[in-house]
Amino acid sequence: MPVWNPWHGCRKYSSGCKNCYVYRRDSAFGKDSSVINKTKAFDLPLKKDRNGRYKLLGSAGVVYTCMTSDFFIEEADEWRSEIWKMISLRSDLHFIIITKRIVRMSECLPENWGSGYDNVTICCTCENQEEADRRLPVFLELPIKHRHIIEEPMLSDINISKYLETGKISRVICGGESGDNARICDYEWILDSRKQCEKTGTEFYFKQTGAKFRKDGRLYNVKRKYQMSQAQKAGINIVYEKTKDHSVLFNRLSGSSFRSRFRLSERDVLYIKEKGIETIRSHANDFITKRLAPEYPENDGKQTPMRGHPVFIAQHACACCCRDCLYKWHRIEKGRKLSENEINDLVDIVMEWIQRQSENYRV
Ligand code: SF4
Repeated sequence: MPVWNPWHGCRKYSSGCKNCYVYRRDSAFGKDSSVINKTKAFDLPLKKDRNGRYKLLGSAGVVYTCMTSDFFIEEADEWRSEIWKMISLRSDLHFIIITKRIVRMSECLPENWGSGYDNVTICCTCENQEEADRRLPVFLELPIKHRHIIEEPMLSDINISKYLETGKISRVICGGESGDNARICDYEWILDSRKQCEKTGTEFYFKQTGAKFRKDGRLYNVKRKYQMSQAQKAGINIVYEKTKDHSVLFNRLSGSSFRSRFRLSERDVLYIKEKGIETIRSHANDFITKRLAPEYPENDGKQTPMRGHPVFIAQHACACCCRDCLYKWHRIEKGRKLSENEINDLVDIVMEWIQRQSENYRV
């Protein structure tokens, strides 16, 4: 896991910090974790090897950032602008930033942040209901492109349904506390969070059991080396893969005489060539986000014209045209906002259909 720690040290902030792993690890070396200093790795993303290649190359482009502190801690205010510049420059990497201090984020952003950097995911940590209700309303109002919630160390059952229903959260990660003084994590809380994710089309990841794990009323002391593997064994993660195989859906659609009536004309394909496939994808994203994704879309049932744009035709062919069709063919319930994952998946389906149809023409 590629990690970049531009500074080290932190101040305890809320109940989730009680047994902080940074403090635990530092105390083993007699180090005071409350002293916050820049590290030697401060400018790691800019460092190159003798062949002129960047040293920091994330696996799958992902870099976990500031894992031995909090990215938005006050002591780092004067250093952060340099960090933003490096993040902006390394657009080939994706930076994951985990914070408990989300309430400080708005005063810590660079001038060119806009609606958020594409290559940054902000993860807001909530250890219990109180912190979830304090931090998540702020989190949802901030300009951020990719949002995750981390419920770790999970100290109670946490109901975040109303925040997930906004469709702005793409993933929830849960886990228990590690260390000798770990507090109990109950499997029922984990399952409840999973249920909330399932209902709202949000990805879910059970990261670790923690050291004291209660299941079916029985308490287990789980050794550190088994905490992650045991969580994986539960097999309860929900993942919406980016490269989903849609062949089953396309087979079903081909069995419908209504759906298979829709075809792209030569004119549509010429339009696609002229605009370029990325522009058509952005149109698809726009149509689906504005006309299908709201909890109660305007003119539902009539919001997608039968002609006028290749994406409209693809939406009818793929049953992505109104919320009734979405329910019937894709099992996405009405009366709730579509999540980012669901929108991306529907755009992928529509675009795959368009690509398949375009192959029938040599224009
Ligand atoms: S915010 Fe994170 S790093 Fe800082 S004390 Fe709390 S748990 Fe530790």
